[in-house]
Amino acid sequence: SFTLAIVGRPNVGKSTLFNRLVGKKLALVDDQPGVTRDLREGDARLADLRFTVIDTAGLEQATDESLQGRMRALTERAVQMADLCLFIIDARVGVTADDLVFAEILRRKADGRVLLAANKAEGNAGDAGYYEAFSLGLGEPIALSAEHGEGLDELRHALMPWHDRFAAERRAAERQVALDAEGAPEEHDPTKPMQIAVMGRPNAGKSTLINAILGEDRLLTGPEAGITRDSIGLNVTWGDRPFKLFDTAGIRKKAKVQEKLEKLSVSDGLRAVRFAEVVIILLDVTIPFETQDLRLADLAEREGRAVIFAVNKWDLAEDKNQTLAALKEMRDRLLPQLAGAPLVTVSALTGRGLERLREAIVTTYEIWNKRVSTSRLNDWLIEQVQQHPPPAPGGRRIRLRYMTQAKARPPTFIVFCSKPEDMPTSYSRFLVNGLRRDFDMPGVPIRLELRKRE
Ligand code: GDP
Repeated sequence: SFTLAIVGRPNVGKSTLFNRLVGKKLALVDDQPGVTRDLREGDARLADLRFTVIDTAGLEQATDESLQGRMRALTERAVQMADLCLFIIDARVGVTADDLVFAEILRRKADGRVLLAANKAEGNAGDAGYYEAFSLGLGEPIALSAEHGEGLDELRHALMPWHDRFAAERRAAERQVALDAEGAPEEHDPTKPMQIAVMGRPNAGKSTLINAILGEDRLLTGPEAGITRDSIGLNVTWGDRPFKLFDTAGIRKKAKVQEKLEKLSVSDGLRAVRFAEVVIILLDVTIPFETQDLRLADLAEREGRAVIFAVNKWDLAEDKNQTLAALKEMRDRLLPQLAGAPLVTVSALTGRGLERLREAIVTTYEIWNKRVSTSRLNDWLIEQVQQHPPPAPGGRRIRLRYMTQAKARPPTFIVFCSKPEDMPTSYSRFLVNGLRRDFDMPGVPIRLELRKRE
């Protein structure tokens, strides 16, 4: 389906047409200009055609200057939101100076996506105005009478090719997304163990933590019974759920040669990150967020993994409240790409905080696998664009047309827009932050791709 914006100066009959298309008496309609006030949206039907319609009524009687300013702002907003504009003039009045202002806005902003209608054309009273409308250079006008329901068949006829075109574009976009998804990592399978890597600087307590987790498994299943080991990982049951831990034993053996430590941590680190679905960056509370921790966290984020910070040796922390606040501040300042990622305090030695760590892992894993429906995303996108329109480099506003989630693990979204190459990163960041906030996805990487669609 597509979105049609009804635009034009006050009192040409925009709301009357809106109400007729939506089939409800939603707005007061009056012959006095400015009775209705803001952008309204409704589900329109015209015989077999279904689409969304936006009404830009909402211009109060005002001085010429402020009227023009408001008119311009409201119309530009509607043009931005819609796939197609229906520009209405009053056939009984003919083309006015205000109409010319609108025509100019549409010529500049609507990229040719404009239909022209001369309303109040019942009887012969509108003939002169109808012919005058040709002079606007926006094509052949449709003669309408919104109030009497005349000309609706012609309107439907004019909308039809656009409807087909938008449907084809949307299908092409969806096909492209489906093609992209083919190469994506496999889907979430709840029966498979969740793959975890515990990473961090030497001596942070990785082995101690893994042993603590294995210890819980043993409590549940008896000595060593439930734990199996293969070339890359340890299978354990932790709190009645299967996990596979990346086995750092290999790394530790090699790391005994102290001077080779730094080099080994890079290649082995990459291997562990690639293996993991959730990466736990284990920090030592006495020396948190060391260079190596930052490098590993950044690597995990760039590889699209879910990241959790576990602050170990919490038993040694003195002022716990103050330390926690300081750690969160460091996380957000040193790793803005992971701002808000879960930060859990643990003591691998005593086993304190292990349950909270497990819960954080499971929650973050679920967010990492999350999918948001296309319809929710597009409703959301319209809201964002209304509240914070994209920039207009060189005077032409970037139009965001359609949005979909291409894949999960990590959540990856595609926005189809008119000029992806001109989109500033600040606007992409605004969208990513909004997605994180409005769809509740703290602490996982969110990918946003821009694709061209005129
Ligand atoms: P790894 O190099 O990251 O595997 O670190 P280890 O697990 O070998 O631990 C390094 C040192 O930190 C050992 O002496 C551990 O006993 C100690 N350690 C580990 N976890 C804790 C903890 O929660 N509290 C305290 N106080 N010490 C810990």
